[in-house]
Amino acid sequence: MSNDTATHSAEIRLATRPVGEPGLETFELVRTEVPRPGPGQILIRNTLMSVDPYMRGRMNDVPSYIPPFELGAALEGSAIGVVVEAREPSVPVGATVTHFAGWREYSVVDAADATVADTELATPEAYLGALGTTGLTAYAALTRVAPVREGDVVFVSAAAGAVGSVAGQIARKLGASRVIGSAGGPDKARRLVEDFRYDAAIDYRKGDLEGQLAAAAPHGVDVYVDNVGGDHLRAAIGAMRIGGRIAMVGAISAYNATEPVPGPDNLFEAAAKEVTLRGLLVNSYLPLFPEWIGKAAGWLADGSLRTEQTVVDGIEQAPAAFLAMMRGANTGKMLVRIGV
Ligand code: NAP
Repeated sequence: MSNDTATHSAEIRLATRPVGEPGLETFELVRTEVPRPGPGQILIRNTLMSVDPYMRGRMNDVPSYIPPFELGAALEGSAIGVVVEAREPSVPVGATVTHFAGWREYSVVDAADATVADTELATPEAYLGALGTTGLTAYAALTRVAPVREGDVVFVSAAAGAVGSVAGQIARKLGASRVIGSAGGPDKARRLVEDFRYDAAIDYRKGDLEGQLAAAAPHGVDVYVDNVGGDHLRAAIGAMRIGGRIAMVGAISAYNATEPVPGPDNLFEAAAKEVTLRGLLVNSYLPLFPEWIGKAAGWLADGSLRTEQTVVDGIEQAPAAFLAMMRGANTGKMLVRIGV
């Protein structure tokens, strides 16, 4: 039995399917009885959960690489918490585990779908950020999809965000000679250089992305990590050197679009420069987790990988945190603290 005395659990459900930018009305908070684990399952009291851009796509009722969220059901996503009841001996009560049934105070999952997190190795925040799928995305992009070679010039968009703030630092560790990041606003641009070790920062809100990129990378770009799509992808293609590599990680500039977004009008430049554009889904790189955590945990411990999180308090604030992240209110990983 659980030694946790709570009887009710708040969860965030999808109330309506948004058209364009979601709002608070997209979500509803519902209190349910704390669920009970069945055989082979564990009950987790969540302490932190993640809000991520890909969740916007799951709010649409369209086929994709991951099924849509169900209307009227709790949303899902990465979370971390403490096991308060276990009907499976391999996961002890008191263990800290990561899992995928976030957006609620208490989650029941199959023990096989939870991963015990070593809290001596890293903080719970790190397990949802640099040591989670966002860090892995950056690592897979720069080692497998658009591999960085010694001396490369690397460009990263959404560079002050969860993936981007880690990507720039990985590029440098892999031998990049110059790392350029793009983010929205002067404060984020400053932090790219001061905190996340970028050599040069572009504030895309100032406009003239092409001109700013040409000034930051006068001899061109070898590797581009595309988190944004649209204008950023166009500018990067224009700046690529011969044989350059682009990791197509995300296209957040189009996630709320209500009409099809035209592709970059300079794609032939990619052909003429023999540039590779290659997509990435982090789920295909989960076997890289031990390799990545083996490196990143040491870098976090010795301070050579700097990370940041923007933390919002309370499960009831999770919708606002998601909406704010989509508009750029976060530096580093956007997280929601659910409890202690
Ligand atoms: P994040 O960067 O921490 O947060 C999203 C950021 O996007 C915001 O902070 C905002 O930063 C920026 N943004 C929003 N609208 C923009 C626009 N119109 N133009 C330029 N920037 C805009 O999120 P994340 O989790 O690290 O994800 C970053 C990207 O990677 C997303 O596209 C996401 O879908 C993708 N991703 C893909 C995979 C995969 O498996 N393929 C895995 C993880 C993430 P500013 O303030 O700088 O605008």
